[in-house]
Amino acid sequence: MSGVPFRIGQGIDVHRFGPGDHVVLCGVHIPHEQGIIAHSDGDVALHALADAMLGALALGDIGQHFPDQDERWRGADSRMLLRHVWSMVESRGWKVGNADLTILAEYPRISPWLEPMKQNLAQDLQISTEEVSVKATTTEHLGFVGRREGIAVWASVLLYR
Ligand code: MG
Repeated sequence: MSGVPFRIGQGIDVHRFGPGDHVVLCGVHIPHEQGIIAHSDGDVALHALADAMLGALALGDIGQHFPDQDERWRGADSRMLLRHVWSMVESRGWKVGNADLTILAEYPRISPWLEPMKQNLAQDLQISTEEVSVKATTTEHLGFVGRREGIAVWASVLLYR
């Protein structure tokens, strides 16, 4: 590994809407007329962020570390998954500098929930809420997000030592 004391990572995740009455984003349960189809709780935001952290250290992806076939992760709280990835980062001598997430969703409305999302992330990554950014946008009715078929999240993270 080079001596550069910074590592940058990015992650993307997409999940499809299905039957249900809420979605979970950054650990926040948001009442909704649909749910998310997933093996775990379907927290697409935390999956993107966990992938960004793994990517920063070239440790593969969450599909490798938390396989869909693994019964331990059925319906799992994705905050457990994120904290597990955080501990992998920490044990290698790295800390999270900041994280920036963009949620692409035509609905439900995300903005009322951004603050509790940031608080959950700050808690799980052991940083302050000033080092966490969660943003949301629609896609102007374009593409699968615009057709209300699902939610996509882009995440970037900076690690330092
Ligand atoms: Mg996922």
